[in-house]
Amino acid sequence: MSIDLVLHEFSTYYSKQANAEREILSTMEDKLRVSGFPYCGLRHLYKRLIQPTEYTSMGSDYYLGVGIATHSSIQHALGYGRQMYGNWKCVQPGCQGARIFSNISKCPACSSIMVYKEFFLDLRSTFPNLAVCLLDGIFRDSKGHYYVVDYKTTNSKTAKLPAESTYLPYLANIAQVRAYCALIELRFNIEIRGWLLHYVARDKPTHIYKTFGDIISTKAKKRILAKIKTYDKHYGMVMNCTDFSTVRTLIEEKPCTSREVYDKRYANFGGCPLSSICFNSKRLITEVSSQWEVKEPNFLTWRRPSKLPLPKL
Ligand SMILES: [Zn+2]
Repeated sequence: MSIDLVLHEFSTYYSKQANAEREILSTMEDKLRVSGFPYCGLRHLYKRLIQPTEYTSMGSDYYLGVGIATHSSIQHALGYGRQMYGNWKCVQPGCQGARIFSNISKCPACSSIMVYKEFFLDLRSTFPNLAVCLLDGIFRDSKGHYYVVDYKTTNSKTAKLPAESTYLPYLANIAQVRAYCALIELRFNIEIRGWLLHYVARDKPTHIYKTFGDIISTKAKKRILAKIKTYDKHYGMVMNCTDFSTVRTLIEEKPCTSREVYDKRYANFGGCPLSSICFNSKRLITEVSSQWEVKEPNFLTWRRPSKLPLPKL
């Protein structure tokens, strides 16, 4: 076979494999995560009832890897400049030095430069079901105000779009960073004035980027914490659901009270498989109860977090 034919065969093979979706058996624990907000207990219950097959591809593996690499390099550079607060950990052999909520990278024990670590936010004393989350950092402006920062990756073309034609920032990213504002204020007892979403181009992160941000009111932060309280309660009901009366409560207390609410608050966040019937109570109850009848025997154990005890039957 000529080299031209080999090149053609390889290129066809690459294109097929690179774009193929493959089934994966996800081992990711089914936790209540800020990155999955806004949460709906009914949608979560339905997902556990039907246990949909998950897929991955080279593209999603690639973007995930690039995202991780981008985060660690940006975090370190910005943390080093003293205007960004985070946690620091010494990596010198045998040294246990660390700093929490700090802009000082020097190790308190051995004086070497430590490695920047995201904020480790554990609020299980307030929200027992909320997974521990990692936050990119807190920016302190020259007036002394604090802003929660989240880094995201995008492409150069998107980062360069003018304000009127950009679709950034994504609503889901805003929901996530606003929740962080409320949670970090609760955890560290400091006032968070607002948030910054910093999108960097994967091919030229040093020069091509776009930052968005806003102020967040005390009232808004309170409202977010109240919502998280409900999410926390509903998550517990889903993970310990043993009878249909709990399902009925989840239906009664579901966050989408109308299609308008769904379109505004949920449709852009990955959508919901129940959206076509959720506002027709008869069809909704028929679908959910029939899925409840034929649910998998592992409904309670499927991807259950190892630290979450099973309900007593
Ligand atoms: Zn040290």
